[in-house]
Amino acid sequence: MTDGQQDIYIDFPYKSGAYGYMEFEESDLNNVKENSIFIFTHTHADHYSKKNLKHVMKAKGGAKYGFFKISELERLNQQIDEFEITAFKTKHTFFGIPFKHYSYLITWHGKKIFISGDTTEPQTIGQMENIDLAFVPYWILKNAKEEGIEIDAKKFAIYHLYPSQFEAILKQTEALEKFIPMVENGQTLIIE
Ligand SMILES: [Zn+2]
Repeated sequence: MTDGQQDIYIDFPYKSGAYGYMEFEESDLNNVKENSIFIFTHTHADHYSKKNLKHVMKAKGGAKYGFFKISELERLNQQIDEFEITAFKTKHTFFGIPFKHYSYLITWHGKKIFISGDTTEPQTIGQMENIDLAFVPYWILKNAKEEGIEIDAKKFAIYHLYPSQFEAILKQTEALEKFIPMVENGQTLIIE
């Protein structure tokens, strides 16, 4: 994400192609902006790579945040212009094992952006009001529907799709401006 002044990466760099999810090129690491802020929801390999992050930060500087530094996240509120971030501890179990995981609400220049991470529970996002853009794995939409939870968001960026699902998903969402599947490297969303 960027406002043209500060660049923020969420759950990047991860391990390219981890668990069969989207691959990226070495050049995507080299093209990371200088002095960026890296925020992580959790440290599964499809969201986080210690090795890639170390490599990028060595070359480009910047600062990283995640469950290991959650109390320091709010410092960003002073550091970045018109920026506020709130962390929510949310549930993400992996093969039955609970994993340390956070979702984030970011308000930046008056726009509300919710980062769901991998949580399966739609309750937290269900409590938010007037989200401009919600980043959600497709299962949040499914679970919210099943549990009768309404998500108050203008737009959804949907991720955690396998490349083999891209075509079918694109067909389904073609006419729906509200639901944007994240299926392309370098795909750009503009919040107006
Ligand atoms: Zn995960």
